[in-house]
Amino acid sequence: MAANAQGVAEAPFVWHPATAEEAWQLKATLGAEGVFTAGGTLLRTQWESGLAAMPNHLIDIGAIQELHGPRTDSEIGTVCFGAITTLSEIRTSPLVNASFPLLTEAARSIAAPSIRNLATIGGNVLSIVGDSIPALLVYDPVLHWHDGSSGLEESLSEWLSTAAVHPVWKERLLLSVALTPPTLNSNTKRFVAYHKVGRRDAFTPSVVTAAFSIQLDSDNRLGDVRLALGGGQTIPHRLETVEQFLTGKPADKKTITEVYSMILEHYEPKGDAFVPVSYRKKAAANLIASELWKAAK
Ligand SMILES: Cc1cc2nc3c(=O)[nH]c(=O)nc-3n(C[C@H](O)[C@H](O)[C@H](O)COP(=O)(O)OP(=O)(O)OC[C@H]3O[C@@H](n4cnc5c(N)ncnc54)[C@H](O)[C@@H]3O)c2cc1C
Repeated sequence: MAANAQGVAEAPFVWHPATAEEAWQLKATLGAEGVFTAGGTLLRTQWESGLAAMPNHLIDIGAIQELHGPRTDSEIGTVCFGAITTLSEIRTSPLVNASFPLLTEAARSIAAPSIRNLATIGGNVLSIVGDSIPALLVYDPVLHWHDGSSGLEESLSEWLSTAAVHPVWKERLLLSVALTPPTLNSNTKRFVAYHKVGRRDAFTPSVVTAAFSIQLDSDNRLGDVRLALGGGQTIPHRLETVEQFLTGKPADKKTITEVYSMILEHYEPKGDAFVPVSYRKKAAANLIASELWKAAK
């Protein structure tokens, strides 16, 4: 934090760029002295808990028009969520609920309404462990960045695989997250579920966050299986081995028993002093097994 000549802490200088290019230029000029702020809910928690120092300059991206709200590309059915779309907007949007019900449910589970009115989807993704991420991962998300050149696109999974160890992305501005709704094959039904298991439903770090989407055909066989897990400090990811195993299998007791064991074997959550790894694995396996059971019925 900046200090005046008497050593008294001063508030950071806040910039209000009007365009993505202007915001990026400011960041490039200020370097580590400048930090992008969207809702500021996570940043504030980090400063107040001493996890991060308050920077000398805040680059408030709230006035940048192109970062607002969901926009639909009707030709390919993709919906682009501007990075500063708030969790409240997502929670209450009929468009989101119709095409991405897991995202609606995730937004409902994050913090309290007063926080959700400020907190953005971009800020949640860039926390690397946000509770919206497992839900997003089900919809093949693509991140669009402004990096000072012609722009950059990368899948959310790809970004997550290196984000914690290579923080080069901190120099870029996230513009939007694009999602594609899954298509439904004929004679199939889709089942989706999102669960956040925590000490309370919202307002606390989760123990496990799970998002799940499957198709069941008329022979009760599973298809288009998408399964993402996260929670606590675990970086969310799809469980591809389990997805492949389930594809084409009948939704019956044998499959569900096998998948329970597979999740215990393949899911590698991070433990902490309060919730050990073994508990998180069992919670995840129980959630997925019970959702499969409901779908099979
Ligand atoms: C009481 C409380 C409860 C909470 N509960 C939950 C919870 O249950 N689940 C959960 O997941 N989170 C929770 N959070 C954390 C936080 O509210 C969310 O992660 C929120 O979505 C962060 O969004 P934001 O817009 O406030 O991010 P900010 O705090 O503004 O920014 C977060 C980070 O992203 C960067 N950033 C933001 N936008 C951009 C952009 N467009 N381009 C480049 N960098 C950017 C910032 O520089 C910063 O590093 C909680 C926070 C509080 C205070």
